[in-house]
Amino acid sequence: MKVALLFGSFNPIHEGHLAILRYLAEHRLADELRLVVSPQSPFKQGQGLLDNARERLEAARAAVAQTGLPVVVSDVEFELPEPRYTIDTLRHLQRTEPDNTFVLVMGGDNITALENWHLADELLHEFEVWVYPRPGTDARPYVDALNARPGTKGITLFADAPQNAISSTEIRARRILHYDVIIIGGGITGVGVARDCALRGLKAVLVERDDLTVGASGRNHGLLHSGARYAMGDAESARECIGENRILKQIAPHCIDPCDGLFITLPEDDRDYQRQFIAACRAAGIDAEALDPAEARQIEPSVNPDLVGAVLVPDAAVDPFRLVFANAMDAAARGAEILSYHEVRGLRKDGRRIVGIDVWDVRGKQEKHLEAPVVVNAAGTWAGQVAAMAGARITMYPDKGTLLVFGERVNRLVLNRCRPSSDADILVPSGVTTILGTTSQRLEPKEIPGARPTPEEVDLLMSEGTKLAPKLLQTPILRAYSGIRPLIALDGAEEGGRNISRSFVLFDHETRDDVPGFITIAGGKMMTYRLMAERTVDLVCRKLGREVACTTAETPLPEAIARPERFGGAVICECENVREDEIRYAIDQLGARTLLDLRRRTRVGMGSCQGQLCALRAAQMLPDPDVHSFIGERWKGIYPVAWGEAMREAQLAQWMYNKSENASQ
Ligand SMILES: Cc1cc2nc3c(=O)[nH]c(=O)nc-3n(C[C@H](O)[C@H](O)[C@H](O)COP(=O)(O)OP(=O)(O)OC[C@H]3O[C@@H](n4cnc5c(N)ncnc54)[C@H](O)[C@@H]3O)c2cc1C
Repeated sequence: MKVALLFGSFNPIHEGHLAILRYLAEHRLADELRLVVSPQSPFKQGQGLLDNARERLEAARAAVAQTGLPVVVSDVEFELPEPRYTIDTLRHLQRTEPDNTFVLVMGGDNITALENWHLADELLHEFEVWVYPRPGTDARPYVDALNARPGTKGITLFADAPQNAISSTEIRARRILHYDVIIIGGGITGVGVARDCALRGLKAVLVERDDLTVGASGRNHGLLHSGARYAMGDAESARECIGENRILKQIAPHCIDPCDGLFITLPEDDRDYQRQFIAACRAAGIDAEALDPAEARQIEPSVNPDLVGAVLVPDAAVDPFRLVFANAMDAAARGAEILSYHEVRGLRKDGRRIVGIDVWDVRGKQEKHLEAPVVVNAAGTWAGQVAAMAGARITMYPDKGTLLVFGERVNRLVLNRCRPSSDADILVPSGVTTILGTTSQRLEPKEIPGARPTPEEVDLLMSEGTKLAPKLLQTPILRAYSGIRPLIALDGAEEGGRNISRSFVLFDHETRDDVPGFITIAGGKMMTYRLMAERTVDLVCRKLGREVACTTAETPLPEAIARPERFGGAVICECENVREDEIRYAIDQLGARTLLDLRRRTRVGMGSCQGQLCALRAAQMLPDPDVHSFIGERWKGIYPVAWGEAMREAQLAQWMYNKSENASQ
């Protein structure tokens, strides 16, 4: 039996493949037609491509079924331990089906490449080849030359076969998507830039390799600084903070608890520091009012009663998750594309100019190619790695900070120590919980993936933090977490690690490194994201020659995800008051698929029960809950604080998960 084999390598099966199969069937050229779906070398390329090929196999079966053609869709390469080339597949088939004769069907453009292929002779000696023409390629001279080689079994050119079979190069070219600007990184900086671009009418796309907020933007303290913290040492940062503090309270009131803050002086602190501190705050434009200890105790009953002085400042608490998702939602509503679970694996170049990115769609399991005249690197701690792909060098100084979450709201106002910045000197109320932080530890880039809170950091936080509010000693600790500050070296200070910016840095790599089309924005703080985005998009606009004014300071952010009282249905998470409708909204409108996605969008499982009561209830509503990852993440946070009450709670939770899992099996 004569079997004609047509290979569909990396690309999805398309009309061109089907047209050739139709031609072969109509002319009754073979007894059997087979479409082989395979990654060219799945084991070399990785599991992702193999999975991708499996999906394409199913898609090919469906496409062929629709045509009614007598075609077998084969997955022969999956059976091979290490197929390298098409020739391995052909040999495998010939060995396993010795009574059949296999003919390779290939396009005219591929035959041109055969001429110089080192395995061409082996292939041509062992197998017959049928060639169909491709528009723009004259295959005849190559077919004649190869046929003239001694030992060639026979190459036939079907001159009248359909011309509409498009080449894989063309398919790839067609799959390049075009934008005005591409933004790499789905933290607060990236979503802020995407929203600003959308508001200025630019066609923007943001790519994030995981979910939005998985970086520092979802692992910080949630303090909307008044700037007072920086007034003594960094007047520029202090002025940026107070300016943005006022703007964000106007445009994002639903993400902010405008609770104010106290900087307290304890007997062991330098009392003169408070006087200088107030003067520095006022010089930076920050309201700073000295209170006597009795007044401070009255407005903040949790404060250490031994305090000897206090200063009231307009600090506030901000919900980082809501702020990020509100920006992303608004950007999307205004036309930006937000592609989470899309990892940038390479930058597309034209000479030294950056013209786009190659991304791996983690959930869709396919490669995508995006092009734009400007690419913005907002990859936070990983900005150095992305810059390296562009051929530019920036030095990041990743700095780990660890925080503790307590199971009750201890303080009404933010509590700070009135002294030079140190460990564990800020206590921020966060909804129904309280967050104590932070520590500071410089990391080597290779240490970033394993950065976790340690029991030593927890001890340090407790010993210092309880001096702010002694009540913490009687308050259950829910968990610990660490974030990495994306600190960046200023130019001219890269060696030796001095002169690290506490403010943000905007690099135009065209003027800095002779890499046109590429910009890096990094450093700063969560709460200065809007200003960072404004400066970045001003530069983007200048590069595009489309100067449009920034309006983010006056344009309110949408409230949808931030007003739980608007949602109805049964209560799913009691601690954070999350109802059924909010979960449906997160699934339908915000792309939540797993429990971890849901937690970041709705706060399910973030309250005092840490998901113990609600996780399994919420899981039933989700398309792909992935309870194991949720529990794994929870354990990472509990492990460093697992003693006493926290340990008992953790064991109870584990027992409940195990029981319910057994029950559901
Ligand atoms: C412990 C701690 C406490 C803090 N407290 C405060 C505070 O109270 N107030 C405040 O204002 N600021 C605070 N900050 C600072 C603030 O969190 C950060 O400055 C801010 O979140 C940085 O946001 P970003 O978007 O630049 O980076 P990130 O949030 O880290 O986002 C970068 C994103 O890029 C993605 N990425 C990386 N490589 C790729 C790739 N190849 N392809 C696609 N995506 C990629 C990452 O997955 C990540 O999501 C704190 C920081 C820490 C660590």
